[in-house]
Amino acid sequence: MASALTDKLSRLVKEMRGQARITESNVQDMLREVRMALLEADVALPVVRDFIARVKDKALGQEVLGSLKPGQALVGIVNSELAATMGEGIADINLNAQPPAVILMAGLQGAGKTTTTAKLAKHLIDKRKKKVLTVSGDVYRPAAIEQLKTVTAQAGAEWFPSTPDQKPRDIALAALDYAKRHYFDVLLVDTAGRLAIDELLMQEIKDLHAVLKPVETLFVVDAMQGQDAVNTAKAFKEALPLTGIVLTKLDGDSRGGAALSVRQITGAPIKFAGVSEKIDGLEVFDASRHAQRVLG
Ligand code: GDP
Repeated sequence: MASALTDKLSRLVKEMRGQARITESNVQDMLREVRMALLEADVALPVVRDFIARVKDKALGQEVLGSLKPGQALVGIVNSELAATMGEGIADINLNAQPPAVILMAGLQGAGKTTTTAKLAKHLIDKRKKKVLTVSGDVYRPAAIEQLKTVTAQAGAEWFPSTPDQKPRDIALAALDYAKRHYFDVLLVDTAGRLAIDELLMQEIKDLHAVLKPVETLFVVDAMQGQDAVNTAKAFKEALPLTGIVLTKLDGDSRGGAALSVRQITGAPIKFAGVSEKIDGLEVFDASRHAQRVLG
């Protein structure tokens, strides 16, 4: 692993040359660097604390103190702990349901739900050869419905019309019925979001979940949200049985520490990353690669 953090840890190890052995206080110095790296990446403080405590437990065992290369040994522990927290490898989208497989998109306004709905439609068409229908339940913002129509066309999927005078529940049922009758493989349901967590809206999406029985409930979260991502994630996890996370705007200059926070809080795997505003700007999330970015 070549990163700024590894360099720092190696430097600390060099400074210790001449000492007979690595001490607990040396390990503390190293952990301080790891802590700084995580905080700089905008991982939420409680998540950083838990993480450091776990690494410390392991590091103070023989693994690091007894090692000839304690810097590398510690980095090894940090990496394996990161992988354990963030998940390893790739978590694919689940379409294991009687068609249409319903995917419910949840998240705050501006997180990237509508964009991601269309990107996901394109992904499922291109990579999984599926017939995909999208629908918007955002009856509060007519512009949001129109936006979904536009981006769905870009994705080459079909869009099911809805209007602001309808109830989200009725829209969902009508779309589901249409999808069944026209043999769609997947129904993607975009939902309303607010700028902050809102009880009424949470109840609405819970009702949608009950009606639609989605096989995937994806929490869409902006990687640039940093520390705030924790509270948002908590609220959505309490309201819905989340099955996956989409981390958007990873093309921004954040180190993506929100990934670690959101994963830890929800326990759900991060399935996709948004990497541009464009329709093809969605990548299957690679946890190991992202871990390196978080460490910097
Ligand atoms: P919604 O309110 O949750 O439906 O959010 P939108 O889908 O309307 O997205 C809000 C803004 O974020 C739009 O300007 C999108 O183009 C932008 N956006 C969404 N995903 C990404 C991404 O992965 N990268 C970048 N750079 N912008 C994104």
